[in-house]
Amino acid sequence: MAETLSVPPEENSEQSFASGVSDDAIPAGASAMDSAENVSAKLKDVSSERRKRVVSGMRPTGPLHIGHFFGALSNWLKLQEEYDCYFFVADWHALTTHYADTSLVAQNTMEVATDWLSVGVDPEKAKVFIQSSVPEHAELHLLLSMITPLGWLERVPTYKEQIENLRDKDLGTYGFLGYPLLQTADIVIYDADFVPVGEDQVPHVELSREVVRRFNFMFGLRWKSRGFEWAINDGDALRILTALPLTEASGGQGESSIKYLQAIGQVGIENFRQKLGEERFNRYFDEKLILVAPGHLLTETPRLTGTDGRRMAKSYGNAIWLKDSVEEIRAKAKNMMTDPARVRRTDPGNPDVCPVFSYHKLFSDAGTIDLVNRDCRTAAIGCVDCKRMMADGLIRWIAPVQARRRQYEANPARVWEILDAGSKTARETAQQTMARVRNAVFHWDDARRKASDPATEFASTQPLAGAELTDVTAPAAKPPETTKSKPKGTSLPAEGK
Ligand code: SF4
Repeated sequence: MAETLSVPPEENSEQSFASGVSDDAIPAGASAMDSAENVSAKLKDVSSERRKRVVSGMRPTGPLHIGHFFGALSNWLKLQEEYDCYFFVADWHALTTHYADTSLVAQNTMEVATDWLSVGVDPEKAKVFIQSSVPEHAELHLLLSMITPLGWLERVPTYKEQIENLRDKDLGTYGFLGYPLLQTADIVIYDADFVPVGEDQVPHVELSREVVRRFNFMFGLRWKSRGFEWAINDGDALRILTALPLTEASGGQGESSIKYLQAIGQVGIENFRQKLGEERFNRYFDEKLILVAPGHLLTETPRLTGTDGRRMAKSYGNAIWLKDSVEEIRAKAKNMMTDPARVRRTDPGNPDVCPVFSYHKLFSDAGTIDLVNRDCRTAAIGCVDCKRMMADGLIRWIAPVQARRRQYEANPARVWEILDAGSKTARETAQQTMARVRNAVFHWDDARRKASDPATEFASTQPLAGAELTDVTAPAAKPPETTKSKPKGTSLPAEGK
């Protein structure tokens, strides 16, 4: 994520959304989660009526610079026209590396939100909100943390790299190790269809997908109420079940129905489903759709260099801020690095290697770009004039942004109103997801229905993870109709209720 999901260039090194969970990094049992691919597809079908949803966030590190605009916000402006967008200030993520000093989080949140609104992020089109104002993110993060193998997080490529890079900070905390999981919660709590990422971040979304697959498998697949009993009385099904790789670690063959579910996890639901056949699978198992595995939206954004030619970053002191005054912009433009080979005024230059020319391409009109591209190469134009023309274009481009900023600066309460209203709307969506998630994990609905009607058996009273279940070796209740020795095509037991 960029930070979470779309990474402002400056924060790339500290906040990239990473997973590093490649296929060979997934524990054996996780291969079973392939099936959740199917689960998610189905859930997406269910939600296909709505506009596709995109989630992206930024850490509140302070005011934003033009690199943030071209690296993330310009893309947000396009996304908000086409998608149901959720853009959030990732204040909890700020704590993962800056927990020792939270004094500027509120102020920086205001700066970031004001810059978003100034460049044209439209609260009428997108939900603009604060992560911590939707506490359901934290609840989902906690539940995801229960099922995520530690190794998945430790293998996130940026984890060790960032600890190495940020030696002045003690990052030996769970918050830092677990931030990719918080990012996953940020995304999936809104049933996001897509996360906008650069090419280098595509693999990072995979951690979210793997976690979702694991979660869907663990809490989405259960035996139907008497499905296990019926399955072991169905000769074909029993043969397939007993061929599963039940291990000593999982309790050994025949220990309980839950061991078979674990073994299904080993071989993959789709493999198992194919072997068992769709009809039998649906007769014995209850498959719930819980979370959506997000996809990614590949985003091509120009990498804007700083005034010294390096990556634009606050720490390098080479940024042009969205709120810089005209005088500051002119002064920074004047000191910009140029083609290093052009030493004297009479030396021809090469615009292709000059940061000033890359700015021209963003801020100047076509005529100016052509002129610079031609006259620089023949030394017909000097760098001083060239920079002045670039500054003129940048100032023209930034004028409406700053005009909007002045309005919000004059009325900061309006920014808080927008954030609070956006948080309220986002929370409504998050609460719907959490109701679904809580019920999948704890079966509250079944428990309540059973309390009001104890005589009724419900289809999904046997959890995947939980108390000891039926012993295969125990006498099984007679299924309504057994297929144990029936030829293929005969009817299977009636619906498992
Ligand atoms: S004339 Fe412009 S493009 Fe050419 S080297 Fe100088 S600043 Fe760069």
